[in-house]
Amino acid sequence: MRINIAIDGPSAAGKSTIAKILCEKLGYVHLDTGAMYRCTALKAIRTGIPLNDEAKVVEMLEDTDIVLTPDGKVILDGEDVSKAIREDDISMGASDVSKLQFVRKELVKRQQKMAEAKGFIMDGRDIGTVVLKDAELKIYMTASAHARAVRRYLQNKEEGIETSDVATLEKEIEARDYQDMHREFSPLVKADDAIEIDTSDLTIDEVVAKIYDLAKPYLEK
Ligand code: C5P
Repeated sequence: MRINIAIDGPSAAGKSTIAKILCEKLGYVHLDTGAMYRCTALKAIRTGIPLNDEAKVVEMLEDTDIVLTPDGKVILDGEDVSKAIREDDISMGASDVSKLQFVRKELVKRQQKMAEAKGFIMDGRDIGTVVLKDAELKIYMTASAHARAVRRYLQNKEEGIETSDVATLEKEIEARDYQDMHREFSPLVKADDAIEIDTSDLTIDEVVAKIYDLAKPYLEK
């Protein structure tokens, strides 16, 4: 049977990388919900809306189209912003707008609609706890802040995205973790029924294999 898989965890723990590979293996579609918060921050910054002005950001969202294509592109109001949303300042901006209750409400509604049919791997911070509470398989993926900073650095370099050095990235990651874990609405927490995987010392293949094994009993049903 087709199922939905929720992957939550702090930034740069490997959620998107793993989700993409697993999707190819399973013929599933990856939904990167962080990209939607990033689009929200990007558009607000571009149009001069303060990231803490909830009413204005929500109003802006009413007139905002965000499409996550099956081949991994992020389209904001018709423009391919896949690269633009990965810049370092947009990461913190996304964390800022994600604190806003009504921004979350709107994006969660869109995410739930996207995953109505089964066959999705959705990654984010609140997928197992809020968005897809009934997902058949929930993973909570973590890794040390240092391991995540090194990965983000290498990824930025490889993709030609302007990047800070590893030490600066590590500080930013820790600051974002703190903000994501301590916000009032839907803070990042492990769902009770999620399985925790620490990827610090695992290869990508090892993590993929672990999750695939966990999914297998459902796929065979
Ligand atoms: O996953 P990514 O790093 O792209 O997410 C950017 C930011 O968006 C996160 O730091 C987090 O604050 C927010 N986010 C969220 N809920 C999600 C996905 C992302 O609050 N489901």
